[in-house]
Amino acid sequence: MIPPVLPTYARTDVAFERGEGAYLYTAEGRRYLDFCAGVAVVSLGHAHPHLVEALTEQAKKLWHTSNLYRIAGQERLARRLVENSFADTVFFCNSGAEAMECAIKMARKYHAASGHSERYRIITFEGSFHGRTLATLAAAGNRKYLDGFGPEAPGFDHLPFATHDGVEAAITPETAAILIEPVMGEGGVQVVPPACLKGLREICDKHGLLLVLDEVQTGMGRTGRLFGHEWAGIAPDIMALAKGIAGGFPMGACLATERAAVGMTAGSHGSTFGGNPLAAAAGNAVLDVMLADGFFDNVRRTAGYLSQRVAAVTDKYDKVFTGVRGEGLLIGLKCKVPNTDIVAALFRRGLLTAPAGDNVVRFIPPLIIGTAEVDEAVGLLEAASEELSG
Ligand SMILES: *Cc1c(COP(=O)(O)O)cnc(C)c1O
Repeated sequence: MIPPVLPTYARTDVAFERGEGAYLYTAEGRRYLDFCAGVAVVSLGHAHPHLVEALTEQAKKLWHTSNLYRIAGQERLARRLVENSFADTVFFCNSGAEAMECAIKMARKYHAASGHSERYRIITFEGSFHGRTLATLAAAGNRKYLDGFGPEAPGFDHLPFATHDGVEAAITPETAAILIEPVMGEGGVQVVPPACLKGLREICDKHGLLLVLDEVQTGMGRTGRLFGHEWAGIAPDIMALAKGIAGGFPMGACLATERAAVGMTAGSHGSTFGGNPLAAAAGNAVLDVMLADGFFDNVRRTAGYLSQRVAAVTDKYDKVFTGVRGEGLLIGLKCKVPNTDIVAALFRRGLLTAPAGDNVVRFIPPLIIGTAEVDEAVGLLEAASEELSG
């Protein structure tokens, strides 16, 4: 018999009652160290006092009015994202897939508004992930998620990861944009080298294409900078954000330059809930914390320590792991045994992690962790590795 909740997830048999910082607690009082963070969402940890206060205060005043009217908190959040990024303008929605839908539509509309509606195709990369809507599934081109859902949305050309010359060869008069994640998160924490991102920027400029970055996972501090592309010293034309943007409140955003957004006039796109007062309050509270002095220094310091200690374990247990990769607090452990066995062994010891493609285990903890949480997690990893190598 089908359960009341549509069974599209193979869920771990545990439910949490409350959280505090990097820890989750079940109703029975069992404690878990959360290096999954709601899949890279709860970036400031659970029940962060500043976020709780901001959301509670807003909840007493006003929840929702729609985008038919001005929303002060949304305007403030947009202004702050613009001030701290390449972008001139922001569209708010409720998820990563929606942010990507806006990015895809905007890239096509840019060319249509410039008199080139034939330029609608977008070059994407194998192993990427952009969401579960029909267009974002077609963009990523992963057969596992596409099969059985009818004809694929047209307009995407998939290239193998990291073939620079191949990208230029794939451009046709119909190409509108190149879309990539700075680190392919779901695809197994595959870091796109900064030189490649620079190269893609150059190719886009040379051929009049837009560079679209999916920073749904890498954005909002995850890599140790506000946005992942900052490591490469380049800027996109359009960028999708979600996951950590509102600390666990559902929110997505599509940021763009004025030039790229030229076609997005009144009536061209919309969202009932996007950027409502509650979401905007959470988003502003997240920025209050992240933009404070030293926040990213701290993330980078912790990330360096974590990846160094994890690398020592993966070196030692070379029957279980082949190595570590990633950027900031988006860390992937490439496994020799099934990654789900490792996730399960860590879970039994009280450490939550997330599997990813390419047989990888992801460590994506809240950005607020310190050396104590790292030491605890590494101890549990060591114990699980000992068990699995025996
Ligand atoms: C999670 C993710 C998405 C999809 O986000 P949803 O909020 O689940 O729609 C898109 N792109 C990337 C890179 C992601 O990591």
